[in-house]
Amino acid sequence: MIVVMKGKSSEEDIKRVKSKIETMGFSAHISKGSERTVVGVVGSVDKDKLKSDPVAFLKTDNAVDRVYAVSKPYKLAARESQRENTIVNVKGIEVGGDNFTIIAGPCSVESREQMMTTAKGVKQCSAKMLRGGAFKPRTSPYTFQGMGEDGLKLMKEASEATNMPIVTEVMNPKDLDVVLKYADVLQIGARNVQNFSLLRLVGQTDKPILLKRGMSTTIQEFLMSAEYVMSEGNADVILCERGIRTFETATRSTLDISAIPVLKKETHLPILIDPSHAAGVKDYVPALSKAAVAAGADGLLIEVHYKPEIAVSDAAQQLNIEEFCELSKDIKKLAEVVGKKI
Ligand code: PEP
Ligand code: MN
Repeated sequence: MIVVMKGKSSEEDIKRVKSKIETMGFSAHISKGSERTVVGVVGSVDKDKLKSDPVAFLKTDNAVDRVYAVSKPYKLAARESQRENTIVNVKGIEVGGDNFTIIAGPCSVESREQMMTTAKGVKQCSAKMLRGGAFKPRTSPYTFQGMGEDGLKLMKEASEATNMPIVTEVMNPKDLDVVLKYADVLQIGARNVQNFSLLRLVGQTDKPILLKRGMSTTIQEFLMSAEYVMSEGNADVILCERGIRTFETATRSTLDISAIPVLKKETHLPILIDPSHAAGVKDYVPALSKAAVAAGADGLLIEVHYKPEIAVSDAAQQLNIEEFCELSKDIKKLAEVVGKKI
């Protein structure tokens, strides 16, 4: 259910409505738009225990303009509940709206030289945030699993040297505290998109969440995962499409370009595209990146390594710095055409 407050409602009005919602046993999620405040009412309450119909009860408040039910199963994430695009602010960098944000960096953190050189290289070519995995979700338990906290320390050094926020994955709830010490954005990987206890935990933090779509997650399931994070009070969710499993084997996954317009219609959350994991081959990364800009994505998450040939994970799909810089020129031109700021 959504409560739309009247244009001139005060803090006191919002507090009173919130408390009415909570008295009925629901939780209230406040979102302040430029013109109006909207309160999301979520939770399941035994209808027999309610003294009055919640819609009718809330409508009697003088500061309430409208109350309506959200028809989608995802409530807080639905465009129906918030028409304006969400803009997620990461240390002053805005993701969403008319911004186009490039996040770049290696698949895994490997060494100081690798992180420093790659971070400085991508920074000069329009990257706004630095990516890198220290806890890696590898298919085989016998391959490199990530440097853990030592890797996060190297990322921090590179982030401070280049003034770029850190985007890094948290895989296991037991690592959350250590990842929180270094990360500016917590990445939830494709394999954990339906790890509901992890989603709830990161929803209780105050860090923005970059939520990757699973390789076999429908758009509705993906948005339900975003809802898990948001229902815990964290509204700063950035979605990321990274390719889905299809019958096609020429690429590692199939980039679902249609996810961009579908998600734009269904949700107000920003949408990034990861062309690297979708393609699995670096040669296809430029075309997919450009398609993403044209289709209305809010940014890209691209794997870049100073020496891809020696990368310990995902070597085939990482661009070198020169290739990234070449691509970023085209991205800039296209972003301008679709009315996005880089
Ligand atoms: C990553 O971005 O580091 C990663 C492992 O991607 P995904 O979870 O999409 O496979
Ligand atoms: Mn990777």
